[in-house]
Amino acid sequence: MTPRHHPSQDLIASCAAGTLRPGAALVVRAHIARCPTCRAEAGFFESLGGALLETETPAPMSAGALDRALAAIDRPAPAPPAPARVRSGRPALPHGLDGVTMGKRRWIAPGVTVTPVTTRHNSRELVYLLRIGAGMVLPRHTHAGCEFTCVLEGSFSDSAGRYDPGDFIATDESIEHSPVVARDGPCVCLAATDSPLVMRDLVGRIFQPLAGI
Ligand SMILES: [Zn+2]
Repeated sequence: MTPRHHPSQDLIASCAAGTLRPGAALVVRAHIARCPTCRAEAGFFESLGGALLETETPAPMSAGALDRALAAIDRPAPAPPAPARVRSGRPALPHGLDGVTMGKRRWIAPGVTVTPVTTRHNSRELVYLLRIGAGMVLPRHTHAGCEFTCVLEGSFSDSAGRYDPGDFIATDESIEHSPVVARDGPCVCLAATDSPLVMRDLVGRIFQPLAGI
């Protein structure tokens, strides 16, 4: 299934330029690995960055450098290898997300686990895999800062719509929601945030210290 919810062009450009926070870049790359459209866009920005670097040197830009960058828009993006499953039962991260360490999976509520993810650059962001059982409803919450999420397995819905594997969601303090997981299977999401969630109900406030998110 091709994702229907995508990162902004600014996020893809920042990711391609290497200026995005490591955790946020991880989530954007998880989406790009499943989205041919955004993969082509990221390829274009990377080619363009290379062409611009050439213009910063005293030597003249090599013949065809800009043409190569522009051609990247039309070039079909190569498909990445399919995500591999890990024998421990942990959901596998898409290939290409190197430099990532998975922590110990923590049970935080019936049907809900959190697995901390450490990025290579040891960022102060909170990055984690969240696994929620089929049909479960997450406590109502909002976000004190920016949170980026990519669905890896399963699907969930909130008042804004339905999110399936590969879909990318950006949330901030303007969004208050209570996601509901589809009844046909658990949902696994990769999320990165620069500040903890703000729980709006009692159940959430009880379980938040256990989750560490
Ligand atoms: Zn996309």
